[in-house]
This record gives sequence, C-alpha cells and structure tokens, in this order.
Amino acid sequence: MANNAHPFYRNAILTKSGEERFIAWNNTTLQDSQGSIIGSISIGEDITEREKIEKIKDEFIGIVSHELRTPLTSIQMSLGLLKTGIYAKKPEKTQRMIEIALIDTNRLVNLVNDILDLERLESGRAVLERTLCSAADLMQQAVDGICAIATQQQISLIILPTDAQVWAAADAIIQTLTNLLSNAIKFSPANATIHLSAEQQTDFVVFKVSDRGRGIPADKLELIFGRFQQVDASDSREKGGTGLGLAICRSIIERHGGEIWAESILGEGSTFFFTLPLPLEIVYERQTDSRS
Ligand code: ADP
Repeated sequence: MANNAHPFYRNAILTKSGEERFIAWNNTTLQDSQGSIIGSISIGEDITEREKIEKIKDEFIGIVSHELRTPLTSIQMSLGLLKTGIYAKKPEKTQRMIEIALIDTNRLVNLVNDILDLERLESGRAVLERTLCSAADLMQQAVDGICAIATQQQISLIILPTDAQVWAAADAIIQTLTNLLSNAIKFSPANATIHLSAEQQTDFVVFKVSDRGRGIPADKLELIFGRFQQVDASDSREKGGTGLGLAICRSIIERHGGEIWAESILGEGSTFFFTLPLPLEIVYERQTDSRS
C-alpha cells in the first residue's frame, strides 16, 4: 500500500564537484495492510535548468511590465487631462496632449511587436526559411526601406559592391540590416555617411554596417545586445528605440549559425559586424576544388 506523505519537497544539493543543483522530491511512504509504515520511496528530479528558465522568465516579465506600463500611464494621463476639459480653450495644450498620447501609442506598438518577435525567435516558433540570397540584394532592400528616414536627416547610405552569396532567410536578414541601419542613423550627426558591405571569407560572409556617429563605450559593446540594454538610459525616450533591436538581431544571426558583434571608438563611430554561412553549393565546390 502506498501513501503520499510529503508528495513534493525541494532542496538544493551539492554535487561531488561542488556544483549546486535543485532537486524536487516526490516522497511516497509504503504501508502494510494494517497501516504500519514499512518503508518509503523518494524520487528526485533535477529541476535546476527549469528553475533557471523560470527565473529568467520572471525577470523578463518584470522588465516588460515596467516598459509597457510607462507609455500606457502617459497615454492614460494625457487622455485623462483632455477629458477634464481644462484645455478646452487652449488648442496648443490640447495638441500637445494628443501628440504625447500618439508618441507613446507608437512606442507601445513597437514594443509589443519587438517583444513578440523576440519571443517567436527564442522559442523557435519563428520559421526561418533559408534560400540562396545575394548579399547585395539584401543590403539594397534594407536601404530602400529606410532611405526616406536617412534623407530626412541628410544622411547618405552607401553600399559597397559585392557578389557574395549567402544561405539565409531573406526577410530576417533584411530586418537585421534595417535595425543596424536605423541605429546607425539615430546615432549619427546630420550629413554623415553610413557604409554597408559584405565580404566573402573562407567559410562565411561577413557583413559590416559602419557609422561615424557618437560611438559606444568599450564596456557596453557586449551589453547592448542584451534585452532593454542601452548605453544611456535616456536613449529609448529621446531616440525612440525599444532596447530590443540588437537582441532581435543577435537571435536572428545565431539561428543562422552566425555571430554578431560591434567595434567602436568613442566619438568617432561604430561598426556592427555579422557573419552568415555560405550557400551549400559554394562550400561543396570549395571542397571538391581542394580535393582535385
Ligand atoms: P534601441 O531600440 O534602443 O536602439 P538596440 O538594442 O537596437 O535598442 O540598441 C541598444 C543600444 O545600443 C541603443 O539604445 C544605443 O545606446 C546603443 N547603440 C546601438 N547602435 C548604436 C550605434 N550605431 N551607435 C551608437 N550607439 C548605438
């Protein structure tokens, strides 16, 4: 006869190598037909990884709710003020309140889109269908999508010629290039030039987006790829970002088996690099060439 005395119980244990692991115990006492306890069975499940994921999820939800609440509160306040009628005879104030509500609504839409994009990528639910792509076409499509914003700020976008080809999900790579270009534009002064290039190396193609903007401090070069990480706390407000752009880029590139990183000199500019695999045909040709 089995009786679950303390069905679930968890504790931390130290392994021989001194590593801490969390174990969830399922304890069952065994009784004979008279009800006397004759033994017990304990099954331990290592839940260390699950606990880690739960912690990351909790932290993420904490940040997300803060990021979502800030613009929502601002929209609520602007609309609330308009409703009281105190600005009924002050058209400029009314206009300003509507502007604030609109800016924060746009921010909210961008945030929700970025959060969902990142979630789909990290959970593996985003399907990245790869095809043979010309690097020049990918760069051109990203530039075409963003050139109106660049022109507004008198910023020139220059694509260096290349005949490199990659094995990639075109839309996702255009999204990555667009994010990098949009940052380069945001952090560049008027009349600046941004260069894009793609060069074939032995085993991969390396893309570069180079600006002559404000630059990034050395201790932030890796951090900015994290979620909601910005060099300056005011960047998202003043520059209209979500702090998720580079996290999305990293997720896309890593799903392609590539790498993404930044190099920068403060006050002189930044270059963002990412690598993508070569099309299988080229890898195969290279292997047959080296054998013959
Ligand atoms: P955001 O939506 O804020 O742009 P990102 O994840 O794309 O979020 O970028 C994170 C932060 O990295 C930016 O807020 C900015 O502080 C810094 N950053 C990104 N790209 C550049 C760049 N080209 N020049 C200077 N700083 C940059």
